[in-house]
Amino acid sequence: MEQHETDLAIVGAGPSGLYAAYYAGFRGLTMTLIDSLPEPGGQVAALYPEKLIYDVAGFPAVRGQDLVEACVTQAAPYEPTYLLGHRAEGLHPHEDGSFTLTTSKDVEIHARATLITGGIGTFTPRPLPDGEAFEGRGLVYFVRELETMRDQDVLIVGGGDSAVDWALNLEGIARSITLIHRRDRFRAHEGSVAALYESSVRVLTFTEVAHIYGDQAVERVDVFDNRTDEQETLKVQKVIAALGFVSDLGPLKSWNLEIRGRNLLVDTRMETNVPGVFAAGDITEYEGKVRLISVGFGEAATAVNNAAVHIDPTARVFPGHSSG
Ligand SMILES: Cc1cc2nc3c(=O)[nH]c(=O)nc-3n(C[C@H](O)[C@H](O)[C@H](O)COP(=O)(O)OP(=O)(O)OC[C@H]3O[C@@H](n4cnc5c(N)ncnc54)[C@H](O)[C@@H]3O)c2cc1C
Repeated sequence: MEQHETDLAIVGAGPSGLYAAYYAGFRGLTMTLIDSLPEPGGQVAALYPEKLIYDVAGFPAVRGQDLVEACVTQAAPYEPTYLLGHRAEGLHPHEDGSFTLTTSKDVEIHARATLITGGIGTFTPRPLPDGEAFEGRGLVYFVRELETMRDQDVLIVGGGDSAVDWALNLEGIARSITLIHRRDRFRAHEGSVAALYESSVRVLTFTEVAHIYGDQAVERVDVFDNRTDEQETLKVQKVIAALGFVSDLGPLKSWNLEIRGRNLLVDTRMETNVPGVFAAGDITEYEGKVRLISVGFGEAATAVNNAAVHIDPTARVFPGHSSG
């Protein structure tokens, strides 16, 4: 079994985990990040890398993937160990306040403190019925790079923010865009829906996928009106299924942590009920909690500074300023 020694084990390499890695380094700690996704960035990298984010302090507008890359760069001088594609499975506290974590790939990490920045848990896209055979052959659940859609006829399925945003972002890139939604109300930002109806995107409501056809890859899709059963064939090469995702706390549920709903209860130090196990970002819960990237950054700083005291009780919580 592969073994790692680290000061701080960080479960989740989303924005909160990445910023925590920087902060741990700034505090002179070594850190190991574990994430079940194959790349860092959590929801931002996996679900909306091309979207502009407007509410991160200091960035009037920042592309999701650019923010992730900046977080990775910020942490890089402290040489974090990344265990990507690893799901954290086990957490075993020891009497001296340290922990052994195990991953789905049989790696054992011995850590002096643990920080859980697991967001909404491990998440997988909700599958498009009948779509399995075309996965990776024209059917995608995330658009990591808009360029992959250049000059393609694209069908987008879904009625949430992601579906509407992909449709708007692909204007001028895709040759044609059709958006279908099984209802007539979108669960998306009002301004985006208004922009959608003013755009060149063809919007078909009360419409669902009947069947996808193609030899090697997607060639056409039959869609139907769910009120009249009337069918139409769309000639498309790409299908983006933006049907939301299923998230699961998974193994974290068996770590003896206090959980409310799908979140971990923390105190003002961002410590859970298990001493030495801290949490930050979307996964935490307390009265007045707001789930935003900026809040996760703040919580990560609080968690790491308090974890530093768990590791060395003579250390101070306040780290001093970074400006030099
Ligand atoms: C479409 C969309 C648009 C958004 N727009 C904005 C916005 O404009 N501004 C804003 O502030 N916020 C926005 N958000 C919310 C924002 O993305 C989240 O607040 C942020 O990603 C939370 O970061 P995090 O690091 O706490 O968690 P996450 O980004 O969820 O990362 C958690 C990571 O933990 C990993 N993980 C979980 N459990 C395990 C395990 N057992 N083992 C290994 N890895 C595990 C997951 O794979 C994931 O990579 C948006 C969210 C969505 C879906």
